[in-house]
Amino acid sequence: MSNFTLTACPFFIGGEWTESKLATTPVHNPSTGEVIAECPVGGVVEVNAAVEAAAAAFPAWMEMPPVERARVLFKFRALLEENFDDLVRSNTREHGKTLVESRGDVKRGIEMVEFACGVPSLLMGEILENMARGIDCEAIRQPLGVCAGITPFNFPCMVPLWMYPVALACGNTFVLKPSEKVPLTSIKVAKLLEQADLPKGVFNLVHGGREAVDALLTHPKVKAISFVGSTPTARHIYETGTKHGKRVQSNGGAKNFVLLMPDADVDNSVRGVIEAAFGCAGERCMAGSTAVVVGGAEKTVLPTLIEATKRIKVGPTDREAQPDMGPVITRQHRNRVLQLIEAGVKEGAKIPADGRGVKVSEAPNGFFVGATILDQVRPGMTVAKEEVFGPVLNVMHMEDLDAAIELANQSPYGNGASIFTRNGKAAREFKHRIKCGMVGINIGVPASMAWFPFNGWNDSFFGDLHMQGKEGLQFFTQLKVTTSRWFSYGEGDIWHR
Ligand code: NAD
Repeated sequence: MSNFTLTACPFFIGGEWTESKLATTPVHNPSTGEVIAECPVGGVVEVNAAVEAAAAAFPAWMEMPPVERARVLFKFRALLEENFDDLVRSNTREHGKTLVESRGDVKRGIEMVEFACGVPSLLMGEILENMARGIDCEAIRQPLGVCAGITPFNFPCMVPLWMYPVALACGNTFVLKPSEKVPLTSIKVAKLLEQADLPKGVFNLVHGGREAVDALLTHPKVKAISFVGSTPTARHIYETGTKHGKRVQSNGGAKNFVLLMPDADVDNSVRGVIEAAFGCAGERCMAGSTAVVVGGAEKTVLPTLIEATKRIKVGPTDREAQPDMGPVITRQHRNRVLQLIEAGVKEGAKIPADGRGVKVSEAPNGFFVGATILDQVRPGMTVAKEEVFGPVLNVMHMEDLDAAIELANQSPYGNGASIFTRNGKAAREFKHRIKCGMVGINIGVPASMAWFPFNGWNDSFFGDLHMQGKEGLQFFTQLKVTTSRWFSYGEGDIWHR
């Protein structure tokens, strides 16, 4: 069947790579449908071992000066650059996104390491001399201890790197549980961390699903949990983790609105919406999955958008010749996307671009769905409520900006929203009134970069401190405030005058 050998997915615990004899779940190459690896379903035993290793490594790692910890990260960064192409190919092979998209995935991840390399400056505390007479007050940041990360399938390289470079830079140790659908890139990245001379046990990798996650959520030595995934799981993680006394940052799913105003530049806005809706086959929490066509944009932008969607070439991504769009993650997910499209049509949506019957002759078993537009979608339809997470763009029609903002603000989610317009006043109004955490003005995917928080609101985020930027650093540290006064002891005191 496959040209590839099956890849085992070892655990990395206490600096040792171990292959397991546990039951496994298959990892696919979504472009061909082939099984390329078997991911072990780890549980309590493996998680306990990883947490113990991380706890044992914590005291020495915490004591290492931040400048030295940063040096390990600089080395890690250089190794990520050296192995860039290998990581890109691995990412594409297990996820299915195009090579260009994988380059973005790896680059964004490296930027997180670059941010974390600045930790000696970022960790600096605050001091006020003479808070009261002869009394000084200082606030410093200290690490939490063992932190854990649980990640989704859709950014195999970037999302784990949202978490542990900053956690480690701050002096914490870490246990990562990547998605069982895409464990291979995480294994490669962990090997680079090892090559960067990270001390044993500082970073650990476990595999599995719910059982492994629940073991992390309830382990008394785990102090903080970072999660990225779907909203129901994100809520479960937040509720269970906080109930067990942990700090939790938990990113959920989304449905993001892109407003197309009648004055929008047609070419730029169509390019922006196509990229937002169909980039990474729509499997992005920042996907612009609903275009709100405002007033006359129905006649200007929409026809060009439909034509451009019909031209999107779908195909396998694991070879030199690259399509515009790759497959979705699994056969099961492909079927779910197709069912949601069917539901949309049954509930009254038009389908001017129909990707249901797409045929890819060079890869007949790949998990492909063609780029699809559902027009005349109304609130309340299944496809308007559910996160499709596939190459499906809902189009809704609104009379004016007020109605479009009101529609977008009814969403229970709050990751991103964008507006395409030439009118500064409309853009300002939108920015001010839209209820979400990442806003785009003539930008289809306003995902914030490493130096700013990845800023979901509402059901797209549970917690207080987001990943990335200063909030990320605050999440992985706790403040210690010291108030000090020194007395003079008179004769015999070396300072006595
Ligand atoms: P998912 O929720 O199915 O899985 C995410 C992780 O949680 C995986 O590691 C998985 O093993 C684990 N998991 C799954 N079910 C669990 C359960 N019941 N209990 C405990 N752990 C469980 O998500 P996915 O399908 O891998 O990823 C897609 C989702 O992630 C989408 O909803 C997308 O919007 C979201 N996402 C959000 C962001 C963000 O920053 N807001 C970024 C990327 C992806």
